[in-house]
Order: sequence, then structure tokens, then C-alpha cells
Amino acid sequence: MKALVFDISLTVKEIPCPQPRNHEVLIKILFSAICNTDLEIIKGYMGFKGVPGHEFVGEVMTRSSYLFGKKVVGEINCSCGECYLCQTGRKTHCPNRTVLGIQDHQGVFAEYIVLPEENLKIIPDNIPLTSAVFTEPLAAAIEIFEQIQIKPSQNVYIFGAGKLGLLISQLFRLNGCLYTTFDTNEVKVKKALETGINASLLSSLGESDKAEVCVDCTGNLSGINLALSHLYPRGKLILKTTVAKSEKIDLNQIVINEFEIIGSRCGLFEPALSLLSQGLVNPQPLITAIFSFNEILKAFETAEKPGSLKVLIQH
Ligand SMILES: [Zn+2]
Ligand SMILES: [Zn+2]
Repeated sequence: MKALVFDISLTVKEIPCPQPRNHEVLIKILFSAICNTDLEIIKGYMGFKGVPGHEFVGEVMTRSSYLFGKKVVGEINCSCGECYLCQTGRKTHCPNRTVLGIQDHQGVFAEYIVLPEENLKIIPDNIPLTSAVFTEPLAAAIEIFEQIQIKPSQNVYIFGAGKLGLLISQLFRLNGCLYTTFDTNEVKVKKALETGINASLLSSLGESDKAEVCVDCTGNLSGINLALSHLYPRGKLILKTTVAKSEKIDLNQIVINEFEIIGSRCGLFEPALSLLSQGLVNPQPLITAIFSFNEILKAFETAEKPGSLKVLIQH
């Protein structure tokens, strides 16, 4: 089968089709999407080599599966189910896990993948496939609301009006609290405003302006210090950025101001599909372009451009 392989660079190659083992099924990829994590992987994040990609919509090809012929999305962490963390409800932290297109598991920029059957969720009929491909990042956005309680009286700053930042912004809008989404890129701020997000240029934020909750989804190193400088004492900082490099932070300010810092990664797929199905989150305005698989290298080039949001690939 044809696949995009990352070694030192990205190349499209002919590689063997993956074979399902144990509880895995074979899935034919229909749509995939480029995530910031993929762009970091090709800069060395996680030291991953192989086929990247973890956001997808596919069709189950294994005849013996009850999901045969169904269109599905899939949870990206493949956990052992037996260790202490799996048994205590923390499967996404299983030390024995593989992660689709990120860690020891061939990803979705290929014709086929394998995933455990239990990772898959059927896509409700009323969700267009080009929206369903947002299920994984939307689940990651929803994870914030599994981790903290936000009161309607609290104000929230979201740093970064990128792909994930705008999904997170839509959720805060639903929540009803006072939120503002900041970005340095004028095109992104304009796009965000067009989709009804309360967005503003970062330069409009005063040095002394503060929020009870700050969310860093800037996707760059300085985001964490920027967010900390706009947090009230005892405020909460949610970190969504994962980058290949790491940043120094002054821990004293965290002690003195009693900041709470919360790392936030993968979330549940059911609430994401439910929000998409009810039309309460609309990811369509976040699609910058759709390329065919033959143009996948061009798709990556487009995804790397500063004003770009989500780039999809039709397989
Ligand atoms: Zn992703
Ligand atoms: Zn485990």
C-alpha cells in the first residue's frame, strides 16, 4: 500500500499493509487530517519514525468484526488494559501503550491502519465525514472540561486561535463564561471573529489584564510564560501545547501566586461525537484545504503556513 513515511524527511512509499492482531481490525482510511503534533513529529517530537498521522475517518474492512462496513473514528491510545493505570481509569496513560502515528504504531497517512476494535466509534449518519475527522482534536478540547470546573462568572483567556484553540473557544462559548481568544496572526483573528468567536489581537491585551483561567494552545514555546503572566493568583493554567523543544519557566511565581498548572491531552470520543451530531460545535469553518492523497506533501506545506488551520486529505 501507499503511505507517507517519516524518516529524516517525508516521502511517499510503497510499504506492506498492516496485519490486524488479537483484538485489532483493519481500517481503510477515507479522510485524514494534519495536526500540529504531526508538524512537530517531523521536527523530532517523540523521536517517532514511520507513518505519522492520528486524525482520521475510516471504514472497517475486517469481516469478522461487528463493525464491518461501518464508518468509524478511533481513539489513538492502544492500552494494555491490565496495568495499574489501565485498571484505575487512566488508559491514556498506560505505560505499555502504543499511540497511533505518534508512538510505536503506524499512523493514518496511508491506505490502511489497524486499531483495536474497542477503540472505534461509529459515526452518526448526520455528521459529514469532513466534520467527523475533527472528533479526536475535539475530544482533546473537551478534556479540559473533564479536568476543571469553570464558573459562568469566571473569565478565561485562550492563547492561540489555531485549529485546537478555535475548537476550545467554541466549547467555552457553549459554556457561557466570559472568554477571549488571542492570537498574533491577524488572519486567524479575523477568521475566528467570522465564526462568532470572541477573538482579539494579542497586542490589544494590556500587561495588567488577567484571567481566572488561561489556556495555552499557542503551539509554541513562549506560550506558557505568556499565559502565566496573565493569570490571577490562584488561577488555573491549562497546557495544550506539545512541542519538540522545551521551555524554562520560573517556578517561584507558581509558588508565590499559588497557580494551578494542568497538563491536558486526549479526551473522550462520545461527547465529541454528540456535540458534532447536535450541531453544537461546527468545525467546517476551520478547514483550510482538502487535498487528495497524491498531493499529501503539498498538504503538509499548506499546513505549515502561518495562517493555515485544518488541512484534510481525502484518500
Ligand atoms: Zn491531533
Ligand atoms: Zn495498561
